[in-house]
Amino acid sequence: MTDDTTPGLIGGRYETQRPIGRGGMGTVWLARDTVLGRQVALKQIGDFPGESEGETRRAMREARAAAALNHPNVVAVYDVTEHDGTPWLVMEYVAGPTLSSAIRERGPMTPKGAADLGAQLAGALAAAHKAGIVHRDVKPANVLIGGGRPKLGDFGIARAGADDQLTQTGLVTGTPSYMAPEVAVGGHHGEAADVWALGATIYFAVEGKDAYPSQGNALATLRSIASHPPRRPERAGRLEPVLADMLSRDTARRGTMAQVLRRLESIAAGGTGGTPVAAAPTTAGPPPFVPAAPTGQPYAPQQPPPRRGGGWLWALLAAGVVALLVAGIAFAVSRSEGNDAGSQTSSTAGTTSAPTTTSEPSTTTETTTQTQTTSETSEPSESSTSSEGDDISQDEARTFIEDYFSTVTSDRDAAWDMLGPKRQNDRAGYDKFWSGIESVETSDISVSDDGREVSVTLTYQPKDRDESVEQHTYELTRIDGSIRMTK
Ligand code: ATP
Repeated sequence: MTDDTTPGLIGGRYETQRPIGRGGMGTVWLARDTVLGRQVALKQIGDFPGESEGETRRAMREARAAAALNHPNVVAVYDVTEHDGTPWLVMEYVAGPTLSSAIRERGPMTPKGAADLGAQLAGALAAAHKAGIVHRDVKPANVLIGGGRPKLGDFGIARAGADDQLTQTGLVTGTPSYMAPEVAVGGHHGEAADVWALGATIYFAVEGKDAYPSQGNALATLRSIASHPPRRPERAGRLEPVLADMLSRDTARRGTMAQVLRRLESIAAGGTGGTPVAAAPTTAGPPPFVPAAPTGQPYAPQQPPPRRGGGWLWALLAAGVVALLVAGIAFAVSRSEGNDAGSQTSSTAGTTSAPTTTSEPSTTTETTTQTQTTSETSEPSESSTSSEGDDISQDEARTFIEDYFSTVTSDRDAAWDMLGPKRQNDRAGYDKFWSGIESVETSDISVSDDGREVSVTLTYQPKDRDESVEQHTYELTRIDGSIRMTK
């Protein structure tokens, strides 16, 4: 990776000023185009030893794909230039946050606002699909908000239909939390998978959390997508039926991007989103989540679709082949998961706040304090189960803590899965404690240099009491590739 030393004049024309971001493929710099006198964003690609050839190809692919699209909701690629033997992408500079950080900082959008945002992105993707380009990595971290307008960037793994080089390698790239089920088990990433990913992105925007929380490692997240329906949105309102279709396992039911665009535009304009895209009768299974029901029926979890038509996917699952498939692609996605700010708001983790005792506290403070004490005195650390090289970066640790506490009150099973095995000793007590908590917020997070110790201030909002503020220190350990809360 590059450091933050300004590399100077790039390609004899672009004067780098400061780093503005860092992705899995390198640093992004703010620069001045000395010829046209405007600001641009430069992305260095190919600075990984032994990867320069592949990255050069990727850079060219990204440039070609994005340059082919002249759309107000696509980050424009102006040029590809070379410096010290590596290619640099020259892009439109978007002065604004990514969608993932905007939602994290400002909270979720209204259904109408999210529909408007989704419609603009659907417009960009419909244009891409019309040009034969599938994006393949739509996610909140790849949406930049500049001047109030969302712009889809990072066509780095976009691929024109005619360019099948990548598929022949069998390599699957993308971000686990936003991968469609068919992609999660190694299937084709077609236009329908972009529809799914956009649905997951809009879901994140309106809910403030992911449809599929990160499970801490790519393998577990993919397994979750492949085997479970998304959790039902709580704030989506009129958007819910559209999201239900976009996040359907039945690719036909998702509709084309152009159809999705019309439905989202309708909702953004105050309408109902029109009629759903009809699912093919042979593949119609239960919906991903029951739309805001005219009958007022409660949400019924989706069962896996029957094994016919596209039943190969479920047959694979039943045979356990999925584990092998996802293991094969875990490498390709793990880096992007680590960089995915969008998935960070609602992935999973463990916590010392989880009571390991059912003895009941009259206050939240007593519960958590007692729990922590119990845990520290009676439970041996699980650090010894981690292996060399299983370091935890400070970003990962911070994300882990944020993710856990944004998930534990909404998806307790997922949160429980992220506790270390020795902490998973009292599910009843855990449920008892957390069922009394409406929400919990994190602040003032500090992480030790080795990423294994995290201090955080927690603001609990119990259901039947006033809020309480506590500070806790947790130990994180990577166990078999997944980060777990072990103390
Ligand atoms: P990759 O997909 O290559 O692994 P990434 O999607 O994680 O990487 P990048 O596309 O490299 O991330 O961008 C990293 C960060 O740089 C972004 O999160 C964003 O903050 C910033 N950035 C990227 N492109 C631009 C741009 N055109 N204008 C302004 N900021 C940008």
